[in-house]
Amino acid sequence: MKLLQFLRHGKQCIGAQVRGNSILDLTSASSKIPNNVVDLLARGENALNLTKRLTETNSESLISYDDVKVLSPITNCEKVICVGMNYKDHCAELNIPIPTEPVIFNKFPSSIIGDKGDVVIPKASSSVDWEVELAVVVGKEGKHIEESKAMEYVAGYTVALDVSARDWFGEKNSGQWLLGKTFDTFCPLGPTLVTKDEIADPHDLPLACTVDGQVMQSSNTNQLVFSIETCIAWISRIFTLKPGDVLLTGTPPGVGAMRSPPLFLKHGDTVVSEIDEIGKITNSVVDE
Ligand code: MG
Repeated sequence: MKLLQFLRHGKQCIGAQVRGNSILDLTSASSKIPNNVVDLLARGENALNLTKRLTETNSESLISYDDVKVLSPITNCEKVICVGMNYKDHCAELNIPIPTEPVIFNKFPSSIIGDKGDVVIPKASSSVDWEVELAVVVGKEGKHIEESKAMEYVAGYTVALDVSARDWFGEKNSGQWLLGKTFDTFCPLGPTLVTKDEIADPHDLPLACTVDGQVMQSSNTNQLVFSIETCIAWISRIFTLKPGDVLLTGTPPGVGAMRSPPLFLKHGDTVVSEIDEIGKITNSVVDE
């Protein structure tokens, strides 16, 4: 199932993407379906099963994807957790040793935008970079989750662009990464939440990022240093994972900062972030 959120007549709804580019409005189809995916996940397996049944039995009144304002499939989660330096080939590009334990940072959920949303280059930065990433969406609450049971806590996957203001990574803010990672619009996420039953192996998915048609990143999630299970076990020792929490699993090589000369996003660019079997998001870049 591919779940998404969209605005219809000014109201937010959950939809299921069916038959390619069509959307079934699940919120209108049943009073038991809330208007956002985080609340749907919080209602547990029964609610998710209901969306599946509705998707299988309702074939009327489909809406075209292009006729509605599509939002990110997750907009009101509690946490956006990120893993840094989590691709073997990216560590080689950075010329750093492969980390021995996950490197965790975060973005604020307020930085999330959806497919076709604009990435805004803040006045405060002149080195805004791209990082395509596999995003994992948490399906149920858990703390101290065992690695062997971690997948039970996964609802599904989506595509993320971990936009990064590199000039905020060094001396500014005493080297803390948070601010450089969480300017408004710095977390494009979508287009849909693909439920985990649709993905045979999340650790073997080609992913790529293109800027104005030029392929900047091209790798495979088989390059992950720490698996999804390891990351979930690791972070759930620190804090409770909640339904709808998003985990960005790290980026492969090809980021702008490591190019010679360095290359950064500019007004008018179009960034396409894509993961096989999950989907792609397209975001225009504009100046603040
Ligand atoms: Mg990243």
